[in-house]
Amino acid sequence: MPKISIVVPCYNEEAALPLFYREITRVAGEMDYAEFEFVFIDDGSKDATLPTLRTLAETDKRVRFVSFSRNFGKEAGMLAGLEAATGDYVALMDADLQDPPALLPALYKAVTEEGYDCAATRRTTREGEPPIRSFFARCFYKLINKISDADIVDGARDYRLMRRTMVDAILSMREYNRFSKGIFGWVGFHTKWIPFVNVERVAGETKWSFWKLFLYSLEGIVAFSTAPLAIASILGFLLCVIAFVFIVVVVVKTLAFGDPVGGWPSMMCIILFLGGIQLFCMGILGQYLAKTYLETKKRPVYLVRETEEGVK
Ligand code: UDP
Ligand code: MG
Repeated sequence: MPKISIVVPCYNEEAALPLFYREITRVAGEMDYAEFEFVFIDDGSKDATLPTLRTLAETDKRVRFVSFSRNFGKEAGMLAGLEAATGDYVALMDADLQDPPALLPALYKAVTEEGYDCAATRRTTREGEPPIRSFFARCFYKLINKISDADIVDGARDYRLMRRTMVDAILSMREYNRFSKGIFGWVGFHTKWIPFVNVERVAGETKWSFWKLFLYSLEGIVAFSTAPLAIASILGFLLCVIAFVFIVVVVVKTLAFGDPVGGWPSMMCIILFLGGIQLFCMGILGQYLAKTYLETKKRPVYLVRETEEGVK
């Protein structure tokens, strides 16, 4: 029988976990044509997530877990889960039931019968989300698709089922700054998009503040595009052209009218403007340098403290 691994990153999900487990085992029971493995990642939770996972693993042999030494973030959780998964097919899913397990049979069918390598899900609405957040999210997707060659779909969730080949392709990308939405798009393969209506999380609360999302989006841009670096050179070039025109105007004006002094305010504007542009471009360079710095350190993406086999 084919084996499906369900990878679930969990951070402080004590409230949602029992509900999630009940729902996923119900769906797994319906899909009796496949074998299941549930890989939970405890991302350094500070609540009872880990004890809950221990109990689940004791009572259900299909449950496995990896517990981190501290909170490393969802990206690290997904990587650890994909590495630990042994199935022929691997699904990524949130613990809060915002990724409905009921869609799993449809995802599985797309991959096994319709010839896709991956079936991914996309929210059709952003209902229940603050409008300002939706606005920025839309802008982000428009921008990143213009400036990077990874195909990133607006509203795409991380919820997806992949064939082993695609999982191995993702695992072959060893970068430290991981931006999964970009990685999924970058590796390519045939993906079927399955839309669904947004659902609110069942219990607990979201771990993403607006600021965290903003930083995450910058990470995505730096990780999957070098366009901002080009912006710096283009701006520089444009300013040179403007400066040249300006010089010609000043020289001609002085020769024709002999009026060398004056214009303190315009001078200040130019100095401040150029200073701003220079700092802005240095900031862009700094972003890339910082990421390169972290990559070259070759630190592990996560550290494991405990698994279902016991404390390491
Ligand atoms: N998550 C995680 N580590 C983190 C933050 C979140 O493993 O540092 C998990 C979380 O437990 C959940 C999933 O990532 O299963 C999505 O998080 P959340 O529901 O808070 O995000 P949202 O759905 O609001 O975007
Ligand atoms: Mg959620």
